[in-house]
Amino acid sequence: MKVLKFGGSSLSDAKQYQKVRSIVEADKSRRVVIVSAPGKRFSDDHKITDLLYLCHAHLQYGVACDTIFEMIAERYRSIARDLSLSVPIDEELAKLRDRLSHGASQDEIVSRGEYLSAILMADYLGFDFIDAERWIKFRFDGTVDREASYEALRGAMGTRGAVIPGFYGAMPNGSIKTFSRGGSDITGALAAAALKADVYENWTDVSGILMADPRIVENPEPIAHVTYDELRQLSYIGAQVLHEGTIFPVREAGIPLNIRNTNEPEHPGTLIMEKFDDAAEQSGRFITGIAGRRDFSVINITKNGLSSAVGIMRRIAEIFEAHGVPIEYTPSGIDTINIVTASSGLKDCLYSIMGEIEKSVQPNSIHVTEGIAVVAAVGRKMAYRPGISGKIFATLGENGINIRMISQGPDELNIIVGVDNRDFAKTVRVLYHSFVK
Ligand code: ADP
Ligand code: ASP
Ligand code: MG
Repeated sequence: MKVLKFGGSSLSDAKQYQKVRSIVEADKSRRVVIVSAPGKRFSDDHKITDLLYLCHAHLQYGVACDTIFEMIAERYRSIARDLSLSVPIDEELAKLRDRLSHGASQDEIVSRGEYLSAILMADYLGFDFIDAERWIKFRFDGTVDREASYEALRGAMGTRGAVIPGFYGAMPNGSIKTFSRGGSDITGALAAAALKADVYENWTDVSGILMADPRIVENPEPIAHVTYDELRQLSYIGAQVLHEGTIFPVREAGIPLNIRNTNEPEHPGTLIMEKFDDAAEQSGRFITGIAGRRDFSVINITKNGLSSAVGIMRRIAEIFEAHGVPIEYTPSGIDTINIVTASSGLKDCLYSIMGEIEKSVQPNSIHVTEGIAVVAAVGRKMAYRPGISGKIFATLGENGINIRMISQGPDELNIIVGVDNRDFAKTVRVLYHSFVK
């Protein structure tokens, strides 16, 4: 049995719904379908979810949202009309309009994007509609009670196939709660784990995970095989194809994840599994993918004797902890240490943190460098392979890119370089072209 999740661009209009139906009908084992809210039909179109957030924000400030609501309503009406569906879509839209004017929560309002999409799709496929609020059970702390959710979904399944709206579930008191943005990927992973699917197919608008962000590198090659460890690194560091919370449920249940393209359904996409028999693989490439993000800050602390002192790292770490700022990397030298962290988290507390470090550690010097981008080359085949970091540093040097920081994970799964923000895209491109011929 296969569980499928379709993202917003796969559901943007009736034509895309038709593609989804052909994909589902091409394989009898495709029985459970998770849908997002309709996404953009063209580049300056709007995502339904964004419009719903906007409606809610308007009403918060007492501004009418009729124009935006009409844009949303017309998207669903036209899908229902073009596919000749029998769902009473006007009644459903009237219910949403009513909830909007009666102060429904932001989470409830935005969740209706996937809800409406799912009732249309269930009708179109002739599958049961199973509401996510019936089985995705959040705890009060915002985490999902997986065991209880899995059991509830198994109990809700009928004999037909099922369509489930992504992105939301219910709190213990019954109110609706959403995941963070892009969270329909998580709904699909939970459904796959609950139903012990043979595979979780995640259908989107690219033919799998590409070796680099297609907005930076022109036509990057798709990656055929990725391990869960590599995917975790790539998506954490910046490749935003999948919500980073997708991996844990399927990995734990030993379910392979297959990323596919709704607009190119014959393409095998990317297969993600625990491990592959690398010896049998054709490609001799050492790098699986390249990802990164801008806007990090590096706090450099130098103190004579720091390397042999005991307890200083703990004191520094406690100061960051007290301010709720996660430390991303800590490249260090003799008597000097760098704390690398996303600048967004330091907005209100940078100077307090520096002041507290000064008092607690009494360094010889402390200074901060902002505007650093982090770029990682990730690859399971880099381990124990001499010469890869040399090649990375040489290539960047030849291209006039100044490396501000270097960090390599002890598992040798990645090599991370810090460069100036303005060199970010160039670094990604240079690395891509030096490793992919
Ligand atoms: P969906 O709506 O199907 O959930 P998303 O927009 O969330 O799709 O994710 C797919 C997009 O991720 C692609 O269209 C692409 O622009 C972007 N992306 C960023 N980095 C990568 C990468 N390394 N490989 C593939 N896609 C990437
Ligand atoms: N529709 C939601 C969003 O835009 C969830 C998703 O697409 O996964 O974030
Ligand atoms: Mg997504």
